[in-house]
This record gives sequence, structure tokens and C-alpha cells, in this order.
Amino acid sequence: MSSIDNIVQDIALTTETKIDDYQLSSIGGGCINAAYKLQTTDSALFIKLNQPSLVGMFEAEARGLQELRGLDCVRVPEVICFGQADGHSYIAMEFITLGSFRGHAPQLLGQQLAQLHHQPQAYFGWHIDNTIGSTPQHNDREHDWPTFWQQQRLAKQLTFAANNGAGRSLQKKGQQLLDNLAVFFDGYTPIPSLLHGDLWGGNAAADEQGNPVVFDPASYYGDRETDIAMTELFGGFNTEFYAAYKAEYPLDPGYKVRKTLYNLYHILNHFNLFGGGYQSQAESMMEQLLAEI
Ligand code: ADP
Repeated sequence: MSSIDNIVQDIALTTETKIDDYQLSSIGGGCINAAYKLQTTDSALFIKLNQPSLVGMFEAEARGLQELRGLDCVRVPEVICFGQADGHSYIAMEFITLGSFRGHAPQLLGQQLAQLHHQPQAYFGWHIDNTIGSTPQHNDREHDWPTFWQQQRLAKQLTFAANNGAGRSLQKKGQQLLDNLAVFFDGYTPIPSLLHGDLWGGNAAADEQGNPVVFDPASYYGDRETDIAMTELFGGFNTEFYAAYKAEYPLDPGYKVRKTLYNLYHILNHFNLFGGGYQSQAESMMEQLLAEI
């Protein structure tokens, strides 16, 4: 039996079903994992595979999808199971035929995301740690948002960056920013919202009815502005999306500046994952922010 056969049999065992006959096709578009459509006689599953040590990453993805689904605002795939088999870790979920994120999908997602963000959560952080890309993301419970952003988001990425060879000037500016973070939160106290956490254009699409679907989350309870900031980082979300979001849940005027502070986290993470020009992009974002102090 091949690896895949063993994984399919593990899925069958976990879900207490029989899978005798299936077809597997490879799916592109992901950044981190190998992805496949698994077509059985009864249903179609979407499965992602990685090395066995990353089963915790799939468990956290499963929990994020389940929690987002539980709040019933935005469509996300239903999780079937996750586990380890034959030298791999895997996650299996409902396969959704995805089309491009257009038509009425952006406007609907704007409304639905605002509804999701409107539901207050009890604290900043989450019940488990997860990953952003494949980088560890710490989610220790915290009641003060600036402290959370300082210690569990920016400081962690700066430490990873130092270990990944970031120059002294980036490290110095990063530290200066951490020391002055309070400036960006003067008069602004966000409530904790359940976030998608990795909402770039590649993680949003439309189903066959044209309704929005989001997937591949890095969820936690945090400031909703971080989700909106990320939609602006790499593009893919149109004016209808933002108009619908703001009509439902207007943004604080200070978002314009904090947007850069929030996206700095993702750019530092991109430096840590991919290196290259992300270092100079992170540094110019820091300069822009330090100019506000
Ligand atoms: P990665 O974790 O490697 O970034 P993604 O979760 O983004 O992978 O999935 C890779 C691609 O597979 C996506 O870009 C999307 O097109 C498609 N996809 C994701 N989830 C599903 C699903 N439940 N059903 C069908 N296709 C999916």
C-alpha cells in the first residue's frame, strides 16, 4: 500500500466509514502543505499533508475552522478529522468547489466578517498556540491588547528575525518600536474578537453559489483591525468589501496608522519564512511608524 492508501484508511478508521474506492488529484495554490482532492464514491474531501511533527499545526487549523464555523457568520469548510499516518500528518475537511472571489462575494464577506468581529470574546489570545504560515504563533491569555501585540506578536517575530540574520538596524528600530507601542493605542481599547488571522486574498474564495468562503485560518482572539489590515497588505479585496464591512462595523480613525503596525507582523513573518526583500520592507514600515512617535 502507498502512503496515501494508508492515510485514506486512517481517515476511514477515524470517521468510521468504509473507503474502498477513491481517486486522488493534486491541488495547487497553497503555501505550506501538499493538498489533494480525495473523491470517494460517497463524498469529496480536501486533504493537506505535511511532515508528522506538524500534526499540532493541523490540530490548530481544525480548531480554528471549527470555532469560526460555530459562530456561523462566514462559510468555512467542515473539518472531518486530522491525524498522523504513514510518516505524514494530515487534515481532512469538506471539499468545496471554489471559484474566484468576485460578484457579490466580497460585499457579503464584508458584512459577515463584521458580524463575526462584533461578537465579543473573553480575552486576547486563544486556548492553544498555533502557526502563522509554519511559524509558531503564541496565544497566551492576556487582558491588555497592546501588551499582547508587543510580547506575543512583534517581539516574537523580532527574536526569530535576529536568529535568521536580520541586520542590527532592523533590530534596533524594532526595539524602539516595542518600547513606544503605547503611543499607537492612545484612546483606543479594542474588544477581543475571533479573528481569521491570515486573511490574505489567497485564503478567500466563492463557493458554487457565489457565496464567500474563507479557509486556512490562524485564529485567535484579537483586535479586529488586524484582519482588515491584512486584507490590505497583498490586495484582492475590493471597495465593496470595505464599504460593507464599515457600514456594519465602522473603523476607528486610528486604524490608518495601526494598519502598518499590524501588517509589520506579517512582513516580519515573511522575512522569517522567505528572507529576501522583506527585511527592507519591514524596516521602512518601522521608520514610518517611528515617525509617528
Ligand atoms: P496551505 O495551508 O498550504 O496554504 P490552503 O489551505 O491555502 O493550503 O489550501 C490550498 C488551496 O486549496 C487553496 O488556495 C484553495 O484553492 C484550495 N482549498 C482550500 N481549502 C479547500 C477546500 N476545503 N475545498 C477545496 N479546495 C480548497
